[in-house]
Amino acid sequence: MKSALILFSGFCALPAFADLRVSTDFEGGSATVDSIDEGRREIRIRPGGDPARGWPCWWFVRIEGIGKGEAATLVLRGSERPARNNGQDTGKPLSPSWAMPAAAAISEDGVTWRHTELGKRATDHIAYPLVGGDGPLWVAWGPPFTSRETDSLIDATSRLRPEIVKAFELARTREGRPVRGLRIAGPGSEDRPVVWVQARQHAWESGASWVARGLVEWVLGEEKEAVRLREIAEIHVIPIMDVDRVATGDGGKESDPRDHNRDWTDSPHYPEVAATQKKLLAFAGENRLAVFLDLHNPGANDRRPFFFVGPPELLPDLARSNRERFLSFAEARLDAPLSLEPAPRVTGAGYHPLWRQISGQWVNEHGNPFTMAACLETSWNTPHSTAAGYLSVGAKLGRALSDFLNSR
Ligand SMILES: [Zn+2]
Repeated sequence: MKSALILFSGFCALPAFADLRVSTDFEGGSATVDSIDEGRREIRIRPGGDPARGWPCWWFVRIEGIGKGEAATLVLRGSERPARNNGQDTGKPLSPSWAMPAAAAISEDGVTWRHTELGKRATDHIAYPLVGGDGPLWVAWGPPFTSRETDSLIDATSRLRPEIVKAFELARTREGRPVRGLRIAGPGSEDRPVVWVQARQHAWESGASWVARGLVEWVLGEEKEAVRLREIAEIHVIPIMDVDRVATGDGGKESDPRDHNRDWTDSPHYPEVAATQKKLLAFAGENRLAVFLDLHNPGANDRRPFFFVGPPELLPDLARSNRERFLSFAEARLDAPLSLEPAPRVTGAGYHPLWRQISGQWVNEHGNPFTMAACLETSWNTPHSTAAGYLSVGAKLGRALSDFLNSR
């Protein structure tokens, strides 16, 4: 039947295809359109990000004109613009692999995301097959998560459990946008251990926000470990730290003048980092900063989630043993299909010249002697790196937190 249809369409001298239109004029949108071949139904794009605002690996487009059931192709190349690394312009483009998941994220409503079929990878490009639906198609590097999704999460959870969920504004960004978070705290929580979870210090790593959302939704659910966790801890979640670059569709990582996650100094460039430091210092002053988690997506070939942690020899004994205990709970809970690498990776001097200015290390140096700080990198280039897959990692992370805090 399929071949008959193809034959039939081949007979039509001028098939009634609508013109293809690509737009990025919405929050998080990003692409440079190289060409549109109407005859071949092929759209050629590159990530549109400005390297001064981070690695140009994020892309997110809306495509109109593909008829229902009609096939088209989205061909993606890497950005040609020189990228920064270790705080300097390298004069060379970023490796295109950062921009090229094996399958792209696709949606017909901009809310519900699934994977495309696998792209066909060639040396310098990847071609993602598209099939038209009832309206425009939204296609992106990964499932997008912008301030709109933060607002939806806050609205939905505040309605679900108004007695314990409180929204707050952490800061206004340098460009004047609100950085919103939510606090999950029952009565009497002011004496409880604090869990601080933040995502998207690197704007392109959209999966991290989905993991944060999965954690929040799990904590507010009915599982007994979730009920126990919210009874014994005060939980703060910031789904997006670098709101500015998420909004403009830039990559964020290695941004000029400072990578968001190399900004953890005594004089941060980003107001949201300064505001977080102030809150964390206050919790440490109350002797209750128990857990700090920074959520990220790693490199294209990291097919299993893993933790980055600071050098163990720099930790007090209690913090070191707490971290080992947390990591063993996490290993047990973060099971297949996105199963955790058992050994964490250490971000010391050999990892990055500015390793002391990474969030987790700042927390190690400014927290309590028992504080557990780590960065979770959730794989983005696997068949399970979907919105649903990330949400499930968030739930599993919640179970690990519950195990950890209930075993203190
Ligand atoms: Zn990152």
